[in-house]
Amino acid sequence: MGDTRLAAATTVLESTGVDALLVLGLTNIRYLTGFSGSDGALLMGRDGQWLLCDGRYTLQARGEATSCTVVEYKVKSDGIAGLVAGQGWRRVAFDAEQTTVAVHRTLAAAMVGVELLPVAGELDDLRRVKSAAELVAIEKSCTLASEALEQLLPMIRPGVTERSLALELEILMKRAGAEEKAFDFIVAAGERGALPHGHPTERVLAAGELVTIDFGARLHGYHSDETVTMAVGSADGRQREIYGVVKEAHDLAMAAVRPGAGCRELDGIARDHIARCGFGAYFGHGLGHGVGLEIHEKPTLSPRSEQKLAEGMVVTIEPGIYIPDWGGVRIEDTVVVTATGCRPLTKVAKELRIVG
Ligand code: ZN
Ligand code: ZN
Repeated sequence: MGDTRLAAATTVLESTGVDALLVLGLTNIRYLTGFSGSDGALLMGRDGQWLLCDGRYTLQARGEATSCTVVEYKVKSDGIAGLVAGQGWRRVAFDAEQTTVAVHRTLAAAMVGVELLPVAGELDDLRRVKSAAELVAIEKSCTLASEALEQLLPMIRPGVTERSLALELEILMKRAGAEEKAFDFIVAAGERGALPHGHPTERVLAAGELVTIDFGARLHGYHSDETVTMAVGSADGRQREIYGVVKEAHDLAMAAVRPGAGCRELDGIARDHIARCGFGAYFGHGLGHGVGLEIHEKPTLSPRSEQKLAEGMVVTIEPGIYIPDWGGVRIEDTVVVTATGCRPLTKVAKELRIVG
């Protein structure tokens, strides 16, 4: 698995004209080598790859990062500096988005005479288009999370708290095999739905309210991301109207997803529809984002995005309307871009549901 990705990363090394590439971001290390430990470094030269880790991870690294030589260190910066000196490398590129100023300072002090050059984004770009195996993992994660939400439905009723719903959903997911939740779930009822990222509280659900639940699982390192908004007991005319506008924006954007589609244009399709319906002031975030080894990764679907979709990318479509003192509606699916359009990986039906 790592070999073809390491080869792709080597082209980054060649295009920057350096002797070696230092990767410190754990997600990129996992993507490139298979190593899933929580600390380490990857050095890629023209003649080989070295995975550096401390003694806790040496055995694991040998098992997972089979295309790398595993080097154990006591102090990470010394381990990196020792290998760089031993290989005679003079110019080393590092992933700037994953390296803090403090770490850079420590590395520079340990490697006197070595030129450190930042690369930004090139490694993350490699992860945008998913392999067949990655798509299987993401779809499994999505299916597991969607099924857990379906099991939660009988519990969504007047009198239950946001927090207990979040906790129960986490238990359902983990019982079904999720290794972790993809992120801290959002459960926001009634007027709290106006908070796009409302963390679950002890607030009790009441009949006649909407509740928004944003949730996902992590399985084999891969995430899922889905949002449902449901009506507790009943829905009034305004709730149905606003739900309908968000659902139409969601459906219009989904129908426009295809290879070559501009991420900014897709965002605009949903945003323009919401604005035409009179709610333009209430959709304050981007339409979506890539999903994979990280819950938020490239590409970004927003009014500022310059990226275009390609077959095999996995992105979310998640328009919303958030009105202070009233509440909110968000509808989100994770989809894979296919040759001709897209296929949803998340499974919960998005028609307005009355629960409880
Ligand atoms: Zn989400
Ligand atoms: Zn999302």
